[in-house]
Amino acid sequence: MLTKAPRGTRDILPSEVEQWQFFEEKVRELCRLFGYAEIRTPVFEHTELFLRSVGEVTDIVAKEMYTFTDRGDRSLTLRPEGTAPVARAFLEHKLYGEAQPLKVYYIGPMFRYDRPQAGRYRQFHQFGVEVFGTKEPSLDAEVITLSLYVFRALGLEEFTLQLNSVGCPHCRDEYRSCLQEELHEKLNRFCPDCAGRFHKNPLRILDCKQESCQELTANVSLLLDKLCGDCAEHFAAVRESLDVLGEPYVVNPRLVRGLDYYSKTAFEIVSPVLGAQSSLGGGGRYDHLLATIGGPDVPGIGFGIGIERVLLARAAAGSSLPESKLTDVFVVTAGNVSAAEALRVVIALRRQGVAADKDYLGRSLKAQLKFADKKQARYVVILGDEEMKRDQAVLRDMQTGGQEDVALTELASMLAGLVKGAKR
Ligand code: AMP
Repeated sequence: MLTKAPRGTRDILPSEVEQWQFFEEKVRELCRLFGYAEIRTPVFEHTELFLRSVGEVTDIVAKEMYTFTDRGDRSLTLRPEGTAPVARAFLEHKLYGEAQPLKVYYIGPMFRYDRPQAGRYRQFHQFGVEVFGTKEPSLDAEVITLSLYVFRALGLEEFTLQLNSVGCPHCRDEYRSCLQEELHEKLNRFCPDCAGRFHKNPLRILDCKQESCQELTANVSLLLDKLCGDCAEHFAAVRESLDVLGEPYVVNPRLVRGLDYYSKTAFEIVSPVLGAQSSLGGGGRYDHLLATIGGPDVPGIGFGIGIERVLLARAAAGSSLPESKLTDVFVVTAGNVSAAEALRVVIALRRQGVAADKDYLGRSLKAQLKFADKKQARYVVILGDEEMKRDQAVLRDMQTGGQEDVALTELASMLAGLVKGAKR
């Protein structure tokens, strides 16, 4: 147990971390272009926040939360999703008093006690955005488009945008009763999960993955056909806006996201390369969330993208990374030159912006050169007794094999120039 991370969690090792950094760089750049500022909220919140916002009958709240009592007897929960914490921060800091819409993004870990499998973890990471302050349908299209641009910036082209409207409390409540009436007779034929959903959250029955449940709901009436005028108009305007942008989508009238707070626009991006856990990300509008948690009636919309899933999809698509090197220059010692002298040269190089390193294991000259090769250093600096006497070092270009003597006083600025030139 001591040498194993808890079930459903993963270490992000140095060999993978460049993928994560690449992801983060790309989304930060896109957010800047789209006008979103970063927000960082705590990883735990009062449990009540998720009960009230995500909803008590959702899978997340009913089965998946990491909830604990702290030493002060407070019930706290590791955040299972990012929207409720950001909404809480929006209220706490009265950000509704600032110019609207307020556009923010976050990157961080989320926690769900789910059954781990490929692409599903108990600690996973999401990049997400939230926008508060307007119901304007072109904003829905902007938010959806941002999510698509994230995938494209990361080299993913194969995905489908699924779109739906889950209505507002007014039309959804009416539809819920109608759905219950239609399904009532078949109740004993549904899977246990759906039987449980029937009274509390019947809409979720529509996106049950069990084939038998899907057959039972094949011909039921759909909320999309029963939206109130306001919701229908909004949905049409969102579609029009996506059409203007030339973004293809598939209307999936059975798409109901697993959280209670959604209203009107709901969307999900699915990848054909991910197998069972095919959802790369999803989101939607939550026009009543803020009021639900005690704030003013401010509408909002957002999405969350699973970073692990995106990286899995990238790997499946064979996407590579732009080459980057941890070490530009490796400094080796020969003869009696001390390790301290080598460190002095390494630090002088680093101060000039050159990524430099040296041996720390007392290796032989041959082994140091081999290690420099393994580190893929472009240049090697050899500090030998003879050269040091003349305040010089040997500079070897590992790519061409050529080498020359360089004055120690000029070494750092010369390598800074060479490394910068090579990166261009
Ligand atoms: P959700 O908040 O459930 O809509 O999730 C948004 C996105 O987060 C999903 O599309 C996945 O990419 C990712 N995600 C959700 N749950 C997990 C999990 N347990 N492990 C890994 N990624 C997840």
